Amino acid sequence: MKENQNRIARLAAERVLPDSEFCALWQTMDPEDEELLYARAREACQRVYGREVYLRGLIEFSSWCKNDCYYCGLRAGNRRAQRYRLTTEQILDCCDEGYRLDFRTFVLQSGEDPYFTDERICGIVSSIRQNHPDCAITLSIGEKSRESYQAYFDAGADRYLLRHETADPLHYRSLHPAELSCENRKRCLFDLKEIGYQVGCGVMVGSPGQTVRHLLADLHFMEELKPHMIGIGPFIPHRDTPFHDRPAGTLTDTLHLLGILRLMFPEALLPATTALGTIHPLGREKGILAGANVVMPNLSPAAVRGKYLLYDGKICTGEEAAQCHGCMEARIRRIGYEVVVSRGDWHS
Ligand code: SAH
Repeated sequence: MKENQNRIARLAAERVLPDSEFCALWQTMDPEDEELLYARAREACQRVYGREVYLRGLIEFSSWCKNDCYYCGLRAGNRRAQRYRLTTEQILDCCDEGYRLDFRTFVLQSGEDPYFTDERICGIVSSIRQNHPDCAITLSIGEKSRESYQAYFDAGADRYLLRHETADPLHYRSLHPAELSCENRKRCLFDLKEIGYQVGCGVMVGSPGQTVRHLLADLHFMEELKPHMIGIGPFIPHRDTPFHDRPAGTLTDTLHLLGILRLMFPEALLPATTALGTIHPLGREKGILAGANVVMPNLSPAAVRGKYLLYDGKICTGEEAAQCHGCMEARIRRIGYEVVVSRGDWHS
């Protein structure tokens, strides 16, 4: 469609589209438009990052969570979830193994687990910082006070991932219990940015009730936050959550949003997520070919992998770290990109 080709050209040149143009593009893209969008997105990415793809080693260190988000398998109300915590020693072992496998970023993710007090988190972060001074340390442990974020930063954390989930307060309300608010989530992200972290926000594509208006609010929020990283993946239902019967987000919508985000934020680090690899066997490769430039193979000990289940059908739960790393590297090479041994910091 000619109008869509013009919209994509405009987005590539100006990095923004008026709301009505974005909605029209989102709702009417055909396969030819798609190819153009992805080609422009790849060009934009390659101008900044070349054909490099950055690896992040993901360590899922606790499946305990005090929150009750309606979409997440780790929600406190899920009595069937299997809970575990890694010890500091296990976490440090994961990092050592990751380092041998050429990872230079470690992402520590968990539910919001009160056992991991600020003191414990700072202890873990400073040990990793000491053992691996050339690596980036990313935390993804939820909403905390500004003082806590500052303490982790002072202990040596460089980056923080906190998806905002949706920038629309009413939509936020429909995905979370009343104790959680869109306002606090956004406050956290601005605090993190001010402290000096490289910050990642993001959404689930096709989360229950999500409309194109909500996506527009997300894009406007991102324009305001100017995140260094944007994590998006499809919503996938989990059988033991209130959203067990809601449809999953689609591959197509996720790829469209990746392409659009790449054109709007050429310098952003955009992961091709595990959720994307879960809804399609080549989802992550397709993500890279639509503009993503990061993948996050799992470094968690094989024994606990099957217990960190945010959604049904999660891939790579049976593998060892080395297998995940080798598999990812081969997949990336096959599509003409290269995995580099690097922290993969944000290019300004
Ligand atoms: N407790 C941390 C980490 C949450 S898990 C935090 O609050 O940031 C990381 C991300 O997984 C969430 O932000 C959410 O966007 C995503 N997620 C959770 N449940 C999901 C589901 N059912 N389908 C797809 N993604 C999901």
